[in-house]
Amino acid sequence: MRKAVFLDRDGTLIRDRPGYYLRRPQQLKLYKNAPLALRRLSRAGYRLVVLTNQAGVARKILTPATLEKIHRRLRRNLLARGVRLDAIYHCPHAPEQRCRCRKPQTGLLRRAQRRFGFSLAHCYVVGDKASDLEMARRVRLPAVFVLTGHGRAEIRQGRIARSVPKAADILGAAQWILKRSRKPSGSVTDAG
Ligand SMILES: [Zn+2]
Repeated sequence: MRKAVFLDRDGTLIRDRPGYYLRRPQQLKLYKNAPLALRRLSRAGYRLVVLTNQAGVARKILTPATLEKIHRRLRRNLLARGVRLDAIYHCPHAPEQRCRCRKPQTGLLRRAQRRFGFSLAHCYVVGDKASDLEMARRVRLPAVFVLTGHGRAEIRQGRIARSVPKAADILGAAQWILKRSRKPSGSVTDAG
């Protein structure tokens, strides 16, 4: 059985806040709890797949080469802390291009699923934006919303339903997933 956690990048794994755009590798800062959270998921057999919207490429805020460098640094930082990301998929388009990969569209997730053959019945989504939750909903995956990054602002703006499971950060999200995935099948729907 191949299972994965689909992770948002900015505001979930690395520092982000409303009005900010990561455009240089040197600016990249992992959240303190991210390595531990990812190690735990990985040890439980989850593949770690990052899905990230990077409209900055379409808007020429950053080049594809710079984005590549940012992702190399992200992988390296995590590797130094014992975490291997299985894949990073990004959407380089702007919203007005109406592509099929920009979250909440499901193109990135589907691409990962095709490549790795994940069984969606055992996958999860973690993110700090309503678009992450909406993507999860479209493929019927359970999602955990994190309060880091844009999380609190999204809640304040009324974009996040009360019933959505929430965690303080990526470590809380990992714990939620691990607790839930240990439950015998059949009871998974009452989690939360
Ligand atoms: Zn796209």
